[in-house]
Amino acid sequence: MSLIDRAIAVNRKRPWQSAAWLTSKPSPKIAILTCMDPRLNELLQWLDIKPADADVIRNVGTAATEDVVRSLMFSIHVLGVREIMIVGHSGCGMELFSEEDFEKHLHKETGVCAVAPDKFHCYSDVNGQTQKQVLKLRSHPWIPSNVVIRGFVFDLSTGELKEVTPEEANNQLAA
Ligand SMILES: [Zn+2]
Repeated sequence: MSLIDRAIAVNRKRPWQSAAWLTSKPSPKIAILTCMDPRLNELLQWLDIKPADADVIRNVGTAATEDVVRSLMFSIHVLGVREIMIVGHSGCGMELFSEEDFEKHLHKETGVCAVAPDKFHCYSDVNGQTQKQVLKLRSHPWIPSNVVIRGFVFDLSTGELKEVTPEEANNQLAA
């Protein structure tokens, strides 16, 4: 049985446990940008953040893309989020390819070249890459300066959450 079919069967069978937070307006306190890697599926539990308190935005490689900004506009300007946490991680698949290699890989797999996506956000240094995402969001004109943006790298072998927020981001904040 496919996992989708199994999920449908479970949904039909299992009694629903509703809760107040599921039926009222969301009121997240934090937005977390992280990787779609399934190994991070328990990140909220690891950091003891309640599901109701977090807008979790995920994509491959924790990239602050245009679509991430689109989501953040709702987190910040509709729901009142005032903290953004960017969490990269050790052993990310985006370290395995360069942009060029990945395009070549897709070309080989599919036999065609495509116009989009234009960029895959591959990288070789997770610390530098995470810092770059902080700076990209920090400079966005629609993210108010009183919204805190901090960058971290989660080490999946030791559980260490290392802060890598660049000085520059704080300088911009103070300015
Ligand atoms: Zn990843």
